[in-house]
Amino acid sequence: MLLTITTTHEPATDLGYLLAKNPSRCQTFELAWGQAHVFYPEASEDRCTAALLLDIDPVGLVRGRRQSLPGSATLAQYVNDRPYVASSFFSVAIAQVYGSGLHGRSKERPELAETAIPLEARIPVMPARGGEPFLRRLFEPLGYEVTATRLELDEVFPDWGESAYYAVTLAGETRLQDLLTHLYVLMPVLDHEKHYWVSRDELEKLLARGEGWLATHPERDLIAQRYLYRQPRLAREAIARLIDEDGVDPDRAGEKAARNEEALEERISLADQRQGSVLSALREAGARSVIDLGCGEGKLLRLLLADPQFERLAGVDVSPRTLEFASRRLRMETLPPLKRQRIELFQGSLTYRDKRFSGYDAACLIEVIEHLDPSRLVALERVVFEFARPAHAIVTTPNVEYNALFENLPAGRFRHGDHRFEWTRSEFQTWAEGVAERNGYRVRFLPVGPVHEKLGAPTQMGVFSR
Ligand code: SAH
Repeated sequence: MLLTITTTHEPATDLGYLLAKNPSRCQTFELAWGQAHVFYPEASEDRCTAALLLDIDPVGLVRGRRQSLPGSATLAQYVNDRPYVASSFFSVAIAQVYGSGLHGRSKERPELAETAIPLEARIPVMPARGGEPFLRRLFEPLGYEVTATRLELDEVFPDWGESAYYAVTLAGETRLQDLLTHLYVLMPVLDHEKHYWVSRDELEKLLARGEGWLATHPERDLIAQRYLYRQPRLAREAIARLIDEDGVDPDRAGEKAARNEEALEERISLADQRQGSVLSALREAGARSVIDLGCGEGKLLRLLLADPQFERLAGVDVSPRTLEFASRRLRMETLPPLKRQRIELFQGSLTYRDKRFSGYDAACLIEVIEHLDPSRLVALERVVFEFARPAHAIVTTPNVEYNALFENLPAGRFRHGDHRFEWTRSEFQTWAEGVAERNGYRVRFLPVGPVHEKLGAPTQMGVFSR
């Protein structure tokens, strides 16, 4: 059983502080039913992976115990999939070995523990009762991008067909604590074969670990039923208490569903709304060629590539590692030739004049400027507006006024650990109007996301045209 967690948040080796496990050491922990090993297959400034390997002794599991595996006959106690398959054992190991990470405690990096960072969890063998659609229904509402590959029963005998197991990758920008919490609760839900007896403790654990997300999860009821395996009474109680937590009259089920959707939309789709707003501004401008400056992992480019209006696309980022992700997300290697011709990715910095940035109808700077030191903004302005000079430029950045509405964001803290600043609406507008005036552009401002009467929208967007 293996779980790897990777981050590209720099310095990536800070993952070691979040997990309270030193990246330069391999450590072994004795658990009741085997051993857990923690080691780092890679640990560099820009990418770090922690691996948790469980070495389960299926025989030791039953020896000397009065309770046996649920539903197990004698042979199954000795011959089973437990050594290989991610399951509720993982939840126990996460709690015992990654306890600091799970509780969001970090002595050395308390702020990072509270920060959403790019994280990717891989589980090479994961049971998925309900198959890939169910896997997606569990993790996608929580904001993860899910990749699942069904494993063959035996690669030597492809005729035997597919197994019930998947290789799963979950990628998202989230706090490590949230990722570990979601895995802790949802892995046993997918396995549906808990190795220990489900007691009232489990109900309390589910409610504690589910706080803040389970009450509004669209699969809430099923999660509770499966987590509290074969204990319908406990599951009913859990659901009732979750509904209570959500503060909704259980009789008004319709309203409840609508609220779920609303909460969910707020949670998952600010990035989507941003991309949608950029897409419509580009369409409105009639842009046929677009360069995405600071393209990150290529989400916007993927959207643009699907629209034939955009005949020529380019993505630039300063981080080669990020470009590799973008290349994978865009499936650059396997795109049909006609699509492949329309897009290129290259490494470059927005603070250095670069001929390759010229010749596009529109340039996008989506959530990028706040990653630069304010002193570098002058250089960026010249590179983009004076030298590259696209007919249109779209710039988005967080509206710091709105931060007061984010429950989990302590006052004065930025939304992202890498942000060098976050601006109020008037700060952004002053900067953008100055840029427009100095370089012969007009600029208009649009809110992105739900608009609060006093605080404005979470994202602010400036659309520049020559
Ligand atoms: N536009 C993407 C990514 C935003 S994150 C999105 O909306 O999802 C900011 C990105 O800007 C990161 O990928 C970072 O690597 C890139 N970046 C930061 N400074 C840069 C610079 N000087 N030149 C080019 N890219 C830069």
